[in-house]
Amino acid sequence: MSAHTLTVAGVAVDTRHWIGGERVASAQTFPDVSPIDGGTIGEISRGTAGEAAAAVAAAKAAFPAWAATSRAERARILHAIADGVDKRLEELAIVETTDNGALLRSHRRGVMPRVAHNFRFFADWLLKLEHEDFETRGHTNHVSWDPAGPCVLITPWNAPLMLATWKVAPALAAGNTVVLKPAEWSPLTASLLADIAAEAGLPAGVLNVVQGYGAEIGDALTSHPDVRRISFTGSVPTAQRIAESAAANLTPLSLELGGKSPLLVFADADLDLAVELAVEQYDNAGQVCLAGTRLLVEESVAEEFTRRFAEQASALKQGDPRAEATDIGPTIHPRQLEKIDGFVRRAVAAGARAVIGGHRVDGQYYAPTLLTDVAQDSEIVQEEVFGPVLTLQTFSDEEEAVRLANDTRFGLAATLATGDPERADRVTARLVAGTVWVNCFFVRDLRAPFGGSRLSGVGREGGTWSFDFYCDLKNTVTAPNGWTNHG
Ligand code: NAD
Repeated sequence: MSAHTLTVAGVAVDTRHWIGGERVASAQTFPDVSPIDGGTIGEISRGTAGEAAAAVAAAKAAFPAWAATSRAERARILHAIADGVDKRLEELAIVETTDNGALLRSHRRGVMPRVAHNFRFFADWLLKLEHEDFETRGHTNHVSWDPAGPCVLITPWNAPLMLATWKVAPALAAGNTVVLKPAEWSPLTASLLADIAAEAGLPAGVLNVVQGYGAEIGDALTSHPDVRRISFTGSVPTAQRIAESAAANLTPLSLELGGKSPLLVFADADLDLAVELAVEQYDNAGQVCLAGTRLLVEESVAEEFTRRFAEQASALKQGDPRAEATDIGPTIHPRQLEKIDGFVRRAVAAGARAVIGGHRVDGQYYAPTLLTDVAQDSEIVQEEVFGPVLTLQTFSDEEEAVRLANDTRFGLAATLATGDPERADRVTARLVAGTVWVNCFFVRDLRAPFGGSRLSGVGREGGTWSFDFYCDLKNTVTAPNGWTNHG
């Protein structure tokens, strides 16, 4: 086994970059630490600006041939990648859990099947992609999606391979080449993806993976003049940095950012369902961009809702994410734990009351927390915590509910629980959010547009919207008698 290989539960993972179909090691490394026990999993290549540029050069060199590859062949290779993901599903699941601390059972049953689906879906969508021709005074307009060029895809740690492949799959389907930069706190499954893609027959240089700290190699990727698209999922400050860096070349950006989404519970709701939806917001230890972290509950049912919520949330089992019975795993990193704790301590100092939780537990864990007595303009209501921390506020009528729901800088998602379909329509129409769930949560379909409004993002991906972003759209207008003049 190479000095550049580490093993997780018997699975070998290469710790180097993947550039132009070759493994490339950096002179320096950084430690990859498991949130489960704080132990070092291994040392990962710490990319440099030079290595980032080499990855873009490899993507540029591979672009013409991949762009000229037929749609059918591209789709075939993407399906072969999906087959590889399915074949290695158990391995991907345990490596991801060890690396980012999210539940093994979620990785097995939900996340890794979705990774395979990302490839299958965009492969199949590519084959159906078309726009009806239309006429202008007898001239035919024909719309086509042309590959755009090398794409830089930068992803976070909370759902590493799922979020990476939700970008990689449409970018490759579109005929582009890719440089993927996974988060430094969860670098491993991106390396396995490089192996799977190579085994599936993806030509060298079409997918490149560069490891390292975003702060050290980010600019080299996002300011590169040969990069034609940047798709980023992560935090608002990093997105602002990337937008500045991309400005020199006016590189088109897709930004999927944070949220502070509301979960509205009306008195006419099925309260059991509302409580269930609210407790679900602790999934992945609250490290979910879409989480409805602001519970807004109609006054008349607030006491009963809070009582039932506290009872159910207190029964959640916190512990080792590899255990089948565990509901909540660790937070990703000591720095994240510190951040969460800081938010809660400042909120309590400002007058908030912890109905449940409000403290750390052993290791890198934070107790599921519900805070009440919080002011609308307070930090804990306005800022994304990205941990298992919810706030509860009450409202007296629909007007106030909508006002509170929309009163943050974000607009990623909203969930409402109500028994009245007309109310659902009225409220939904007024909510600022990229996705609204009515009496449900986290139902995702890749045909749907996905993204956020305000500081939650720029643009939408999903279905044809992904191809609109990753391609240069072209309209070809042909004259009715154009050919006869030359005949
Ligand atoms: P982050 O912004 O700190 O890091 C995200 C990625 O950006 C990492 O790969 C990092 O290395 C890289 N990066 C850092 N500095 C960079 C720079 N200067 N240039 C280029 N890249 C750079 O975010 P995070 O802490 O990893 O992720 C959590 C955030 O992601 C939360 O705000 C969460 O809401 C958001 N998120 C959003 C969605 C969505 O779909 N809207 C999904 C998941 C997570």
